[in-house]
Order: sequence, then C-alpha cells, then structure tokens
Amino acid sequence: MTTIHNYINGTLVPPAAGNYLDNYNPAIGAVYSLIPDSDHIDVQNAVVAASAAFAEWSSMPLDKRSAVLMKIADLIDRDLSALALAESIDQGKPVKLATVVDIPRASANIRFFATGIQHFSSEAHITGNEAVNYTTRSPIGVAGCISPWNLPLYLFTWKIAPALAAGCTVVAKPSELTPMTAYLFSKLCIEAGLPKGVLNIVHGLGPKVGQAIVEHPQIPAISFTGGTVTGKRIAATAAPMFKKLSLELGGKNPNIVFADCDWEKMLSTSIQSSFSNQGEICLCGSRIFVERSVYDRFVTEFVAKTTLLTVGDPLDDKTKIGPLNSEPHMNKVLSYIELAKQEGGTIMCGGKRVTVEGRCANGYFVEPTVITGLSPDCRTNQEEIFGPVVTITPFDTEEEVLAFANSTHYGLSATLWTENLTRTHRMAAALKSGIVWVNCWLFRDLRTPFGGMKQSGVGREGGWEALKFFTEAKNICIKL
Ligand code: NDP
Repeated sequence: MTTIHNYINGTLVPPAAGNYLDNYNPAIGAVYSLIPDSDHIDVQNAVVAASAAFAEWSSMPLDKRSAVLMKIADLIDRDLSALALAESIDQGKPVKLATVVDIPRASANIRFFATGIQHFSSEAHITGNEAVNYTTRSPIGVAGCISPWNLPLYLFTWKIAPALAAGCTVVAKPSELTPMTAYLFSKLCIEAGLPKGVLNIVHGLGPKVGQAIVEHPQIPAISFTGGTVTGKRIAATAAPMFKKLSLELGGKNPNIVFADCDWEKMLSTSIQSSFSNQGEICLCGSRIFVERSVYDRFVTEFVAKTTLLTVGDPLDDKTKIGPLNSEPHMNKVLSYIELAKQEGGTIMCGGKRVTVEGRCANGYFVEPTVITGLSPDCRTNQEEIFGPVVTITPFDTEEEVLAFANSTHYGLSATLWTENLTRTHRMAAALKSGIVWVNCWLFRDLRTPFGGMKQSGVGREGGWEALKFFTEAKNICIKL
C-alpha cells in the first residue's frame, strides 16, 4: 500500500505528528493508500520553507523560471498514462477521460502561465503633459492554494501554475479525498529541479490543514476552488485579515434548448454536459430547460441515450460512468434523488445505486438519472447535487426560461442551444453566469476570465488576470 508524503522544502516528508488517514479507491470501496493527516505544524513548516525560497524564486530571470515550469509540464506529458491511471483509481473517473482531458489540461495549465510570464507587461499612463504614471506588479509573497476532488490534478495545477509563474512561492493543499496525483506531481517537481521550498504540498483535512493555510498571517493571498459553504467560511476568516481572495465555487447550471437548435449536436453534447465525470464537474448543466414544442421529443431521445451509458469499472475503456468519489458523496446524491421524488418528480431513468459485477462490486456507483415534473424553484432544482442527476423542465418564452435559469443563488455557467443570432445575444447578455456557452460546452480558452457570479465565486480570473491576482500593483507617479 502506498504511503503518501508531504512535499515540504523540496523533500518528501511524513507528517510531523505521524498520523495518517485512509485513502479509498471508490471503484472498489476499499482503502488503497495512506495520506498524511497533517496539521498546523506541517503548514508552519511549509510556510517557513516557502518564505525562505521567496527571494530567489521571485527574482529569478523570467526565462529561467519559465524553463523550470515548462520542464514540469513536459514531465506530466511523459507520465500521462501513469498519472491518468492514478487519477482514475483515486477519483473514480473513467481512465479514458483522465487521459484525454484531465492530465493534458494539467500540463496545458502550466505551459500557459510559464509562457505567459515571458510576454507579460505592466501599464504606463501619460497624464497630459504633467505626469507619467507607471505600474509595477510584484509577486505578493507566499500564496495559499486549495483545490477540490473532482478534477484533482487539473484544478490543482490551475491554482498553483499562475502563482508560481508570477513569482510567488506556494503552500498548497489538494483534497484529502484525491491526493495521489498531487503526490506524484511533487515527485515530478523534484525531478524537474524546482528549487526547494518554492512549492510545498501539505496533505490532510480541510478544517485542519486548509484552515491553517487560510489563517496563516504570512500567507497574504488565498486561491480556492471548492464548495460554496467552504468558500463562505474561508471568506469569513480571510476578509478581516485583508487577504486577497479568489473563490471558484459551486454551480447549478442551466442548459437551455430552443426548438431551432442543431438537434443532434445539442443532444450528444447535452449527454456530456449532464454526465461527464459522473456529473462531478462544477460546470455540468444539471438543469435542462427545453422549449415546449420539442419537450416530449427531447425527453424521449435524451432518456434513450442516457440508458445507453455504460456504468462500470473506470479502468475499462467502454465505461462512461464510473463510481462517485466517496461513500458519503454517493449517499448525498441518492438522498437528493429521494428528495426529488418527495417534491413530486418523476424518475424517467436511473435513480438507484448500481452493483457492478467483479472487482467493483463494492464501488460507489449510481445510475445516470433523469427527472421530470419538478418546479424550477424546488430544492432539487436549486441546490447543487454534483452527481449524475439532471432535471428537465419545459418553457414557453425567453422571459420565462431566463427567470428559471437565473433563479438560483449560483451563477457559474450556462449553455444555450439556438441557431437564432439575435436571441443568442439577448439571452447571453441576460443570463447571470460567469460563462455562457453557445452551441457548445466546456470549451476553454485559458486567456478568458473564468469563474462565477453570485454565490459561484469572486475573482473571475483567466489569462493575465490570474497572474495579476498573485501580484501587488503599485503606481509610481512622476511629475514632469
Ligand atoms: P469542498 O469545499 O468540500 O473542499 C474543497 C477544498 O477545501 C478541499 O481541499 C477541502 O479539504 C478544503 N477545505 C474544506 N474545509 C476547509 C476549510 N475550513 N478551510 C480551508 N479549506 C477547506 O469542495 P469539494 O472538494 O467537495 O469539491 C466540490 C465542490 O467544488 C463543488 O461545490 C463544486 O461545484 C466546486 N467546484 C467549483 C469549481 C469552479 O471552478 N467554480 C470547479 C470544481 C469544483 P478536504 O477535501 O480535506 O475536506
């Protein structure tokens, strides 16, 4: 059984207190590795190492800093298969998905920011004939980066890459539920020659390790991806300490289908946006709204396609739906299906735990589930379920579907299916979401702002903005 270590000051070390937590393989429902149950002492050691490394890393010539990061990205690509396998075992996602999406996107994150810093420039403003103002941006110091379990290495690198590229040193905590790829990543950092202390990875529980990072007075910036409840707690701790905060939080995203859409494209993409990664993607479109004239056709064809999705061993290439990430999470998803029934919903397909034959007999599998007949304002349609569960609701007018779509506390993403150009612009402007995908889903250009409105987060960063987040701006005004 693998024992995972923390990565502090350039070396792999056990937790100071010597305690470990069980790490489960969700496909088989059994412990397969041990993870450090770290605490504030490990975080303190990491902060000391990161503080000591800051002067050298932040002043390193940009081409050298970029080269070290590019080397790490190259090593991720070299180890793609091993990392994809590890991520599948740790998280439950089909290994195929990890191979074509998660791991390639992890190295792309690093490459994007490693090359970006070589082209980054700050601003100068000439104020009439009276003054020249110029802006300097210096790395803010030791950054705290906390990531969730659904896209482990992809979101871990999305947090740390801009911080490291900007010249910050980092204390990071991956989710305790999916630590394995961050552990393998720490070995790649050592191999790539990342100077000691530049990146420190402390494994363990959110309320212990995460909270100690957020509370630490020598960490002036926190970049967090996770649930809205945790985000609120982090904001409550960090705001009175005047920390910079980037919060990428939950979603309850609408997928809006108009009758004039490209039907086949819409149908196959909607299956993906509903059930990819078992619905455990913050950007999944879990509330589907369909124009009434095509509602019955949509329900029939969507349910037929859903029932064809293979639920099974994530290591099998035929599998489309793997296990949910943990037993408590599976129980939460099943409890929402029960709630949907109590709220008057009709289960059109799925709705139950699945027992997969063979080695996965004790895994946490749930059938992809489609529910109709619910009101847009019921709890099932308002709260994030984060599993393979979607609702379908008919609508009559643009105004009506906008009201439905915008009715939750969330505002992460929305998907719109229509071939009508003027409607596209009207709807895209009126949807209260940080991202609106028109006739596509999950398409990402890393230069664009990313993140949510309302309770889906603050600090919508992409491209330069993500780099800027990890810097402190200063204006220097010279009177002519
Ligand atoms: P959580 O909020 O439970 O956890 C996220 C991370 O925060 C984990 O590393 C967790 O540690 C840690 N944490 C927990 N409590 C604290 C605390 N008090 N202080 C500091 N850190 C803490 O989210 P999940 O891991 O369950 O991830 C799923 C959520 O993430 C969903 O709501 C999803 O929508 C959202 N998400 C948002 C994305 C976005 O870009 N907007 C992208 C992906 C996911 P531990 O695991 O040990 O509890």
